[in-house]
Amino acid sequence: MRKYQGKKRYAKKIAKERIEILFSMANKATKNNEFDLARRYVDLILKISRKYKVRLKKEQKYRICKKCHTYLVPGKTAKVRLKKGKVVVKCERCGNYKRYPIKRMTSK
Ligand SMILES: [Zn+2]
Repeated sequence: MRKYQGKKRYAKKIAKERIEILFSMANKATKNNEFDLARRYVDLILKISRKYKVRLKKEQKYRICKKCHTYLVPGKTAKVRLKKGKVVVKCERCGNYKRYPIKRMTSK
């Protein structure tokens, strides 16, 4: 039993590392205007996080459009605006909005 739990934790650790790598790859792809490629990475990120029950960090969640899985980079795939003390991030691909309190965005 103990052995099994250890294995599980190890798998989770690997999953987290993979997610980090995929995030940086998606970031790079988006900056190179390879948006479809970036979306494939985001798909993988979400699959891994579901499979291993790894929660994404807040700053990682900000980067993903939940609707179409676009990797959001302001000026590339997203528009960022301030509205009534909140940050509004609009996905340029599907037009989906995300809203966050400013505090959380700048606390990173
Ligand atoms: Zn979208």
